[in-house]
Amino acid sequence: MALPPLVEPAAELSIDEIRRYSRHLIIPDVGMDGQKRLKNAKVLVVGAGGLGSPALLYLAAAGVGTLGIVDFDTVDESNLQRQVIHGVSDVGRPKAESAAASIAEINPLVNVVIHNTALDRDNVKEIFSQYDLIVDGTDNFATRYMVNDAAVLLGKPYVWGSIYRFDGQASVFWEEHGPCYRCLYPEPPPPGMVPSCAEGGVLGVLCASIGSIQVNEAIKLITGIGEPLVGKLMVYDALEMEYRKIRVRKDPNCALCGDNPTVTDLLEDYEDFCGAVSDEAQEATLDATITARELKDWQDAGKDVFLVDVREPAEYEINRIPGSVLIPKGEILSGEALSRFPQDRQIVLHCKSGVRSAEALAAIKAAGFKDAVHVQGGIVSWVNTVDPSQPSY
Ligand SMILES: [Zn+2]
Repeated sequence: MALPPLVEPAAELSIDEIRRYSRHLIIPDVGMDGQKRLKNAKVLVVGAGGLGSPALLYLAAAGVGTLGIVDFDTVDESNLQRQVIHGVSDVGRPKAESAAASIAEINPLVNVVIHNTALDRDNVKEIFSQYDLIVDGTDNFATRYMVNDAAVLLGKPYVWGSIYRFDGQASVFWEEHGPCYRCLYPEPPPPGMVPSCAEGGVLGVLCASIGSIQVNEAIKLITGIGEPLVGKLMVYDALEMEYRKIRVRKDPNCALCGDNPTVTDLLEDYEDFCGAVSDEAQEATLDATITARELKDWQDAGKDVFLVDVREPAEYEINRIPGSVLIPKGEILSGEALSRFPQDRQIVLHCKSGVRSAEALAAIKAAGFKDAVHVQGGIVSWVNTVDPSQPSY
């Protein structure tokens, strides 16, 4: 289904602009009219990370007149494997600022608006309302649902993308013409079921594959050319090198855009809606959580601790807490590894950030190890507070 252009054309292009965009101008479908629409367009990119990096670079190069960047994070060394808009000299700098500097180098004609803030329910509508189109490059479910809800409530189209290891997905959600994200995914996945890229990893170049689809769709929407991915989900498998297009219908029972919506404004708390950990895990950690510093004190005091790292082998290769034994969470949840746990020692579980170890703790306690505890903040906290000489990831 072709759609009319989202943006009206700018009055004219300058001589500089005509020179710069000549390879667009000679494509009949884009032409002077399409380039003027790009010039007049205001696009907001949520997140200057894996997807935001290629998206911002190509939107800027394409001549989108106003580019907004929302990001509250700073550049970390572990970002550079995929977030190509940032460089070595940007480590420690706010991502939004670093991205703006790269854009100025590629195309100084772009007006960049920096939102160096975390998107939340109090600012999301006000920020979105300043733009024609949103490109969603967020990496967590709480923000993803909030972006969707705000876009639907404001009647804005947005281009969504998601990546994990070798798999990517992309679509265009525009309530007026098709389904929304909640039509496709009515409920967030159970906590702990779907790891983030920070927990599970992502092939760096996958960001470019999905980010470029997002930019492609943004350009089509702005200029009104081609068939946008409205009502269609693009699924990419980098290992098989396969792209599949799946039809997605508007769900009449959608809580947000259905016939009898139950969600009529932004939720009070999206973190709560998506649940960082399950109720069982949350309950298991009550009075059974220690800090990395407390673990170190126990070890130094010679306490008989059975320290279990519930991460995956590849993560254990990167860093580990001295004295730990690797037993991945899956083997604990399946019951397979329970016989390895001693009855007479203090059991301490840890993972990367404390989410997986909380899930494992619930299973261990249910198996009768009532005194078991887990480490708040996992090995990330250990590296930060006890042993900064270890690499982090
Ligand atoms: Zn919907």
